[in-house]
Amino acid sequence: MSRQEVDLFVIGGGSGGVRAARMAAEAGARVALAEQSRMGGTCVIRGCVPKKLMVFAAGVPDALAEARGYGWDVAPARFDWTRFRAALTAELDRLEGVYRGILSRAGVEVFDQRATLAGPQRVRLADGREIAARRVLIATGGRPARLEVPGAELAMVSDDIFVMERLPETMLVLGGGYIACEMASIMAGLGVRVTLMHRAPQILRGFDNEARELVAEGLRARGITLVANAQATAITRDGDGLRVADTRGGHAGYGAVLMATGRDANTAGLGLAAAGVRTGAWGAVEVDDFSRTSAPSVWAVGDVTDRVNLTPVAIREAMAFVETEFRGNPVPTDHDLIPSAVFTDPEFGTVGLGEEDARAQEKVDVYATTFRPMRTAFAGGAARVMMKLVVSQATRRVLGCHIVAPGAGEMIQLAGIAVKMGATKEDFDRVCAVHPTMAEELVTMRAPVRSD
Ligand code: NDP
Repeated sequence: MSRQEVDLFVIGGGSGGVRAARMAAEAGARVALAEQSRMGGTCVIRGCVPKKLMVFAAGVPDALAEARGYGWDVAPARFDWTRFRAALTAELDRLEGVYRGILSRAGVEVFDQRATLAGPQRVRLADGREIAARRVLIATGGRPARLEVPGAELAMVSDDIFVMERLPETMLVLGGGYIACEMASIMAGLGVRVTLMHRAPQILRGFDNEARELVAEGLRARGITLVANAQATAITRDGDGLRVADTRGGHAGYGAVLMATGRDANTAGLGLAAAGVRTGAWGAVEVDDFSRTSAPSVWAVGDVTDRVNLTPVAIREAMAFVETEFRGNPVPTDHDLIPSAVFTDPEFGTVGLGEEDARAQEKVDVYATTFRPMRTAFAGGAARVMMKLVVSQATRRVLGCHIVAPGAGEMIQLAGIAVKMGATKEDFDRVCAVHPTMAEELVTMRAPVRSD
């Protein structure tokens, strides 16, 4: 048993954990961090980063088709998954190295092994060492949840996508959330015939309905078969592929099945209960606005707390924790009006309330337009884009902004600033249009399409 003692022990080397460890060390604290897998966590190793690189790869066929519309002679192209995967692996190795460099330069002691709580101020490493810690930060993230159906273990989860040996010819994607829609869109772009099966009437529950419909329309246009109101009931092996039974009483065969039906907090076996740390639904650590848990010496940030499960949110929670605990400046994390994007094709960027949720809260004016954008329309594409503002009648504040369009993620980052500042529709209108762009519609919509 070691006599080592640290000011902060961080369990988990993902976006939240690495940021907290670095910043606390830079504030003068003695910091240690344990990671049982690869440094960088879900976002860098098996989430946002490899996903976005796959989005780029999957967008190439459309770009080539468009090139023909612009007068280019383009030879038929072939995608080589093995070559792409090798490049992806090399890039993730590079990024993992960057994260390790950040920690070592900040003077954080790193343990490449599992750590659990041996008490509220004691961390036990897998090799048996115990370290006393004045504060412990739980930043262990989440992991894909599998449906409880026979044969569930035969399906892939999102972690498996990035290391597949080969691309299947057909794939069934289960779920209708961020991951299911993004993966369905990517796989279709790479040439896989995709079926997306979701239990609700429409994909992307909780978002603006008009946007959901347009994204669904775009996914169908990409050749994806959308099956609503259905769930898998059993998965069995069928030669090289899998056979899936569903609640509609049907059976069908697929080269692979991806289960993207939500994620659980990574808290199993962490020793939280014994250390006095309360957990709630799906094992998530319960925290207050300052990321404090029920144990006075333990904090938690990121997906493990199941607040808003996004990397930039985990990073902000981590920075607020360090500011509060190591810089004597108490700051809660603000979880209001967080912009985000679903990287499907078409891309969907969103901030604030959808039309339906806003209307449930107060009387609104809705400004929206859908149109065929210049770039793709010229090349013969039928894709439509949408720009939408949901505006409070009482205050004229923009309560929600929803964009379905190429580059919507980039656009919503900027629109998010205005919405977060409390901009009114008239503030948007005072801004001169940038012409010709798609986003200029956000400042040129004159009359509401719907009013309460
Ligand atoms: P989501 O919560 O977005 O989606 C889960 C999906 O699984 C929903 O469609 C849900 O259906 C469905 N589902 C849940 N349980 C069952 C069940 N028992 N049977 C059938 N379907 C079920 O989770 P994801 O795993 O897609 O993503 C996790 C989180 O990661 C997201 O919430 C997001 O915060 C983050 N993320 C963000 C991304 C981004 O910013 N671009 C990309 C990927 C992930 P229903 O709607 O009916 O409940």
